[in-house]
Amino acid sequence: MSVRVRFAPSPTGYLHVGGARTALFNWLIARKHGGVFVLRVEDTDRARSSDEHTAAILDGLTWLGLDWDEGPFFQSYGLERHRAAALRLLEEGKAYRDFTTPGGIRDEAEARGMHPSHVAREKADALGDAEAEKRAASGQPFAVRFRVPEGETVFQDRVHGEMRFANRDVDDLVILRSDGTPVYNLAVVSDDDEMGITLVLRGDDHLSNTPKQVLLYRALGYPEPDFAHVPLILGADGKRLSKRHGATAVGDYENQGILPSAMVNFLALLGWNPGDEREMMSVAELVKAFDEARILKKSSVFDLEKLGWLNGRHLAETPTDQLVPRVRSRLEGAAQPASERLDNSEWMSALVDLLKVRARSVDEMAEQARPFVFDEVAFDERAVAKHWERDPSGALDRLEAVGGAVKTCEWREDALEVAVRDSAADLGIGAGKLIHPLRVALTGQMNSPGIFDVMVLLGKERTMERLRSALVRLRSLGE
Ligand code: GLU
Repeated sequence: MSVRVRFAPSPTGYLHVGGARTALFNWLIARKHGGVFVLRVEDTDRARSSDEHTAAILDGLTWLGLDWDEGPFFQSYGLERHRAAALRLLEEGKAYRDFTTPGGIRDEAEARGMHPSHVAREKADALGDAEAEKRAASGQPFAVRFRVPEGETVFQDRVHGEMRFANRDVDDLVILRSDGTPVYNLAVVSDDDEMGITLVLRGDDHLSNTPKQVLLYRALGYPEPDFAHVPLILGADGKRLSKRHGATAVGDYENQGILPSAMVNFLALLGWNPGDEREMMSVAELVKAFDEARILKKSSVFDLEKLGWLNGRHLAETPTDQLVPRVRSRLEGAAQPASERLDNSEWMSALVDLLKVRARSVDEMAEQARPFVFDEVAFDERAVAKHWERDPSGALDRLEAVGGAVKTCEWREDALEVAVRDSAADLGIGAGKLIHPLRVALTGQMNSPGIFDVMVLLGKERTMERLRSALVRLRSLGE
């Protein structure tokens, strides 16, 4: 039988990283085993669900490339089926009518030191079936409670191993509210059965629901799926990941210029690893390597540093022609005079080729592209202080020497390199001592791609122009 898995978000918020990871693990299992990935939107909480959230969740999954094979199904459409399942349990004596009001039994339970569901069961038993039916027929509202049998509920969890729950700790849960709406635990069992789900993989926060659901599967005579509960994601301080730790919505990372392949790679490594040293993995590699037996039992930490690093690695592997439009669009709105260089695709490709191996995000690439695209150079004052102001006359001598050496040089990387290295040798200094002040002159920055690449990309005219401006500034510093 082929594996059928599902992602079942409640559309009460945006797609957050925990949900995205659950979706990804399910998707990886489906793709690895040639199975089916079902998307089910659990919209039964009408007050908190919204179409906007549903759309945002679908967009997030689409951005990540997690395509679903069936759905999206909406849980609310299954209402009649859920209700029928509850009524069948009632008919078979596996559930009972509860005519009490929640407030009423809460007080009594408190006074008697009991769980409300035990009070409810006591009252239902005292009432008897015939009387309960009479009251129901006369229109008195009632909830339906599942009668949890005695004994123990045992199931295998693919992450946590054998799980055992004493049934006396599982209270008789309401499965149908007095307004006729089913509760989550019943709806989810009915839906997973209807959709033929063979493995339920979801967050650890649902682990306490699972014995209730297993009992419902057994009472309803449905085949039980396998279960896997993935541990929580924590922030760097060891507390459950929340907005306090920064962005938790997948869409925020999209807006920050994170690549979907990097996000997928990062999410896959939250609570799972391939068992070797690999960290940077393509989606295809993840599909091949994924194995739910390697899901870790302990919580994993959401490490933004690592996401940035992985994004840099994925950026370097992304075809340049896919990146050019993204860098361009970030610079088009920049508060600078427009530059016709942005429209020169060949030149932009050469620039992006140089930047993509160094940057961690598209935003960072766009930032680093500025001194190349625009005529005006924004100086990083730390770079100016370090490489110019500490020794202005030294920097002046060096840049004058470079200016002289490259002026007559053929404008190619190799020729420029020879010229710059020769002038360093003439001055009796290492090439680095010359390249640092030169980098500040040409880019304004502490770091940049290789300086000879920078010169070629800027072109002779702009390189000489920037050198001249640097000399003017250095002379004034020396005075
Ligand atoms: N709708 C539930 C949630 O978003 C998930 C239910 C499940 O996976 O069984 O937490």
